[in-house]
Amino acid sequence: MGAGRSGKSTLAVALAQEGFGFLSDDRTFCSWKKDKLSAWGLATTLKLRSDAGKHFRELQAKQPKYLPNGERGFRLDVIVSLDGPPALHDQIRRVPHAFEQIKTGVAALRSFRPEIIVRARCTVQKANHGSLCEVVKSAKEIGLNSISFLAADLTSEAFNRPQGWAPERQDRVALNADEADALEAEVERLVIERRLDLKSGFVVESAGKLRRIVLHFHAHLGQAPHVAPSCNAPWVSSVIEASGEVRPCIFHPSFGNIHDQPLRQIVNSPKALSFRAALDVATNPVCRRCVCSLHIPRHEE
Ligand code: SF4
Repeated sequence: MGAGRSGKSTLAVALAQEGFGFLSDDRTFCSWKKDKLSAWGLATTLKLRSDAGKHFRELQAKQPKYLPNGERGFRLDVIVSLDGPPALHDQIRRVPHAFEQIKTGVAALRSFRPEIIVRARCTVQKANHGSLCEVVKSAKEIGLNSISFLAADLTSEAFNRPQGWAPERQDRVALNADEADALEAEVERLVIERRLDLKSGFVVESAGKLRRIVLHFHAHLGQAPHVAPSCNAPWVSSVIEASGEVRPCIFHPSFGNIHDQPLRQIVNSPKALSFRAALDVATNPVCRRCVCSLHIPRHEE
């Protein structure tokens, strides 16, 4: 508890980064459904003060913006997965009425905090490669603030796949040659038909980044080389998994676990330092197949 601007959100984010599982900066939301009580802590947009870069290195290169209350600061947003227009989203998630639940959830969040930013992320794969324009339309219809696209990861050991996917499993998600061509056409249609959404930032990726998604699938088919993205994720961020494992990014192996050592020690351990010293993103085979990179420019860039 604390007065406005006393640093509740800053403390909540810092503790979440240290691995605390349930936190709230202000209030806790509860619901009772099918004899089950659920509670959400950080369910709404967190606002951090304009000096948050002192505490969060990932914000140092960013400029604070004016918030609805007229103060300058940073907003941390809610992101939902959206796999397609309603019927396709439900089919891919294998959850009846899943799309409707997102719509209801967004409306519920907005009833608590009308200004909350809710963004969508769409993973492009076999089942939805021809529906990108439709998913943008659906995101608009339910009032989301933006949508971004990324290619499905087919080969890494991330996402709880210690041995990676077997080829048959990859084939259920990857595109064949005809589907890769169809995706190429769909991306070009998106670039033309949704040009105003690209221009406004509602579709987060540039045309070039959308075309990289097509390249990813062509490369998987051996029709083009794998090209690593521009990325400095291991130098500017860490991924903490629910188990406490700390990785330099989603795709490279863990350095340690926050249940055994403090985060600061893990990211500065000899193992972490030598990993970063040896990593050449442009040639590393994992990086060359990466679907979700991060690049935070340095001040002088
Ligand atoms: S390119 Fe991808 S795999 Fe390589 S360091 Fe960046 S996020 Fe990790």
